[in-house]
Amino acid sequence: MTPPYKYFEEYNLNVTDEVKESYQNITLELGENVHREGLLKTPERAAKAMQFLTQGYHMDGAEILRGAMFKEDYHDMVIIKDIELYSLCEHHILPFFGKAHIAYIPDGHIVGLSKIPRVVDVFARRLQVQERLTHDILECINTTLKPQGVAVVIEASHMCMMMRGVQKQNSVTTTSGFRGAFQRIETRNEFLKLVGSDLS
Ligand SMILES: [Zn+2]
Repeated sequence: MTPPYKYFEEYNLNVTDEVKESYQNITLELGENVHREGLLKTPERAAKAMQFLTQGYHMDGAEILRGAMFKEDYHDMVIIKDIELYSLCEHHILPFFGKAHIAYIPDGHIVGLSKIPRVVDVFARRLQVQERLTHDILECINTTLKPQGVAVVIEASHMCMMMRGVQKQNSVTTTSGFRGAFQRIETRNEFLKLVGSDLS
């Protein structure tokens, strides 16, 4: 049986070669000496790192969830909070990182708890904007698990804001999405209070 996802430990050789060459050019154009000892292997390392950080393109969030769904007569809120998240902003290809808080209310099925952070990785490990990342996770859980409701809050810091541009070191961007039962204000507030979000 093949698993529904694979972690990149082996890299696509063609992609590695092409991206490596591009990184060599970028390094050169930026004014560096690509033959300097410390930089000799950098283009190849960078090429592999970028493949790792974008491996979500080769993964299927719905399949990951379907692989661990169980019938269960449980109808209370399930919350997974403080899920570490690392992604790349698609405007600058710089990291944004933070935490995701996710809740759902089952409607006949629950899902293995470790699968929710995997779904976060599937959509975070590609070029993203925080708004779409929030929406992608929300829709994946909603359409696959078909719960009574699902909620996603993401709090993230963006290196493109911190290191360049406005240089706001401490700003955190919060995005959220709610489906089904979480559209009721009481349910939504209960969730926000439990995860300690500023939105409540
Ligand atoms: Zn950016």
